[in-house]
Amino acid sequence: MSLPLSHPALAAADPDVAALVGAEELLQADTLRMIPSENYVSAAVLEATGTVLQNKYSEGYPGRRYYEGQQNIDPLERLAADRARAVFGVEHANVQPYSGSPANLAVYLAFAEPGDTVMGMALPMGGHLTHGWGVSATGKWFRGVQYGVRRDTGRIDFDQVRELALAERPKLLFCGGTALPRTIDFAAFAEIARECGAVLVADIAHIAGLVAGGAHPSPAPHADVVSTTTHKTLRGPRGAMLMSREEHAKAIDKAVFPGLQGGPHNHTTAAIAVALHEAAQPSFRDYAHAVVANSRALAEELLARGFDLVSGGTDNHLILMDLTPKDVPGKAAAKALDRAGIVVNYNTVPYDPRKPFDPSGIRIGTPSLTSRGLGTGHMAAVAEWIDRGVAAAGSGDEEALAKIRAEVTELMRAFPAPGLAVD
Ligand SMILES: *Cc1c(COP(=O)(O)O)cnc(C)c1O
Repeated sequence: MSLPLSHPALAAADPDVAALVGAEELLQADTLRMIPSENYVSAAVLEATGTVLQNKYSEGYPGRRYYEGQQNIDPLERLAADRARAVFGVEHANVQPYSGSPANLAVYLAFAEPGDTVMGMALPMGGHLTHGWGVSATGKWFRGVQYGVRRDTGRIDFDQVRELALAERPKLLFCGGTALPRTIDFAAFAEIARECGAVLVADIAHIAGLVAGGAHPSPAPHADVVSTTTHKTLRGPRGAMLMSREEHAKAIDKAVFPGLQGGPHNHTTAAIAVALHEAAQPSFRDYAHAVVANSRALAEELLARGFDLVSGGTDNHLILMDLTPKDVPGKAAAKALDRAGIVVNYNTVPYDPRKPFDPSGIRIGTPSLTSRGLGTGHMAAVAEWIDRGVAAAGSGDEEALAKIRAEVTELMRAFPAPGLAVD
């Protein structure tokens, strides 16, 4: 395996940075990447992010810019927004948010005043920081009311959500999260939002690719606002989009610019357009369904090896494992698996008795390995590696971890990753 020679200008100008980029390419090529928010973008998406579009300032929106020279940028941004509307079946799309967190902040700016009550899922239950959690600006500047999942089922309790929403009357109701292994019932949230008069925000950052590929129900018929990152299952560049019905278009656009941001990242806009074009192809439907099929197959294999999965399994791309029965803390397991070439993250599980910085669980997912072409037939091997890795974490068996790493690398080399120049 050779280091890539695909960045000759960078290598000549700055060997230090080039070496780190090359090492990262090798790492991404050789490891089993299972962090569910990560993926491999295509070579086309990568190329789009590295274009001269990044030299251009374009504050404003197509046809209404504060800078001249937008002959190419205006049609580009319109193309990206048109593709977003087509892929997600929405009336309006704003493709300018820099990332998921600023996108969500723009929603607050559009629909709420500081001090207003907002409601979302608690971070330790699987929600996102920006859904009103205390350490986030959204929990400091707004009054965050948080719901969770049931202790017995690991699933959202809609009676609890309704009771809380009717008592607290939030301006915004967020659904979606970062560690939710089950289908989000957008219709049920919409009914509650209507009852309490809240704006329903479906944050599909994690599952946007599954929605685009028809492997998860769409929030479009139910949510007032759909917020998403573009870099997770959607397999685009790091960025975000806010989508809505036409009635909210003005409020959202004003909140993103000039409310929160300056010039849009045009190179990112280009790459979002490319990713949306890819997401509109029949092969992306196959991809999205394969991600879920792999996740389900992996869950079965893990259950068969005695692992405790939050909610008992998965409907989507991710699995949340409670390692308490294995007697290995999540962080120790994640670090050991990393040494074994399996990259995951440690994660709190609902009602976790341990601390967030050293919680009981790990979170894994199948988007990246599915992008490399691994199928359900490989999931027994993946589960076996995780099982051996967690056991080795418990016993401190570094030799076992090294052996797993060699096996992982051998399989990974048979499934080259999209976008990587390593060969
Ligand atoms: C990832 C994520 C975000 C934030 O995205 P960043 O681009 O990391 O700021 C917001 N909401 C949810 C549900 C996410 O999973």
